[in-house]
Amino acid sequence: MTHKILVLPGDGIGPEIVAEAAKVLECLRQEHGLDVVLEYGLLGGCAVDELGEPYPEATRRQAREADAILLGAVGGPRWERIERPLRPERGLLAIRADLELFANLRPALLYPQLASASALKPEIVAGLDILIVRELNGDIYFGQPRGIRTLDSGEREGFNTMRYSEPEIERITRVAFEAARKRHRKLCSVDKANVLEASELWREVTGRVAGDYPDVELSHMYVDNAAMQLVRTPKQFDVIVTGNLFGDILSDCAAMLTGSIGMLPSASLDRQGKGLYEPIHGSAPDIAGKGLANPLATILSAAMLLRYSLNQPQLAGRIEDAVGRVLDQGLRTLDITTSGMTPVGTQAMGDAVVAALME
Ligand code: NAD
Repeated sequence: MTHKILVLPGDGIGPEIVAEAAKVLECLRQEHGLDVVLEYGLLGGCAVDELGEPYPEATRRQAREADAILLGAVGGPRWERIERPLRPERGLLAIRADLELFANLRPALLYPQLASASALKPEIVAGLDILIVRELNGDIYFGQPRGIRTLDSGEREGFNTMRYSEPEIERITRVAFEAARKRHRKLCSVDKANVLEASELWREVTGRVAGDYPDVELSHMYVDNAAMQLVRTPKQFDVIVTGNLFGDILSDCAAMLTGSIGMLPSASLDRQGKGLYEPIHGSAPDIAGKGLANPLATILSAAMLLRYSLNQPQLAGRIEDAVGRVLDQGLRTLDITTSGMTPVGTQAMGDAVVAALME
């Protein structure tokens, strides 16, 4: 069956990095029997410019029909002053909501060749391989009531509501247990159950779901301790599952352990495993159009797409191995260059991954 991949290059460095990931997929199609067609669409600022909204109807239709979606990045200074509903980032929120992408998977993987790029000592981070599973559709970001109100005293008060229902907790927990099964079978659930009722329920439900996964070791950790442990001994973790707010913060913290956001992919999945795959970084307007961007996070996002939506773990592994070999050869884009190395550009990095795939 031919799989349809919708490619949304987006803004800034998006088109440059997505072009390299598309080259990689094309190579797998020609050389390794990957049965895909790539279709292109508009999301973000480019969609506002051409069609007047960040997530236009045409893209919505394409996204619903696709088996998986590969995104570059959206946004940039050009669209910062337009009215809020038209901002590029709204396009991203809209596509996530429209496709009910509730599970955000963010690996923090440090290639040993890049251990010196981390702010932490190499012995603490070398070989780091964590997967953070963050709930994406609920929590305090969406809970009602919310707002800013004026009290009787005349003072203003901002308020938000943290909410999690049992089915919401259960479905994200199951995604995390399934992911842990494909890895080292250790799952740490992060909450703040000592203070928050929403977390108390979270802990109860994760504990109950664990009964269906006796082969996975479940532990619980408070979020403040988790932040500390991530910096102290990050290699103790295999898979972490947590809510939207805590996951937002912890996944950025874990990303920094690896030294470069130019290396980190992500996936956002729906119930059926259909997903949107994108690098964790933004559109990097400061280097857009200069051929300097690191395309590896996007190339590794394509690998995740093959693993999680197209059920092609071998081909995903081929891409990841090819990236490792390119790093072994000493190729580095500017963001991961250490002293004494001459950086290569975006296209040269993509070409090198393709060459490594052909070996
Ligand atoms: P950013 O991630 O775009 O850039 C932060 C820094 O990292 C910059 O110095 C940039 O040059 C560098 N960088 C990022 N990706 C890189 C890569 N692949 N190779 C080399 N260097 C890279 O974050 P920002 O500057 O805060 O945001 C810029 C724009 O991107 C904003 O409009 C923001 O809203 C948007 N944004 C979009 C997404 C997304 O599409 N998912 C995520 C975050 C930010």
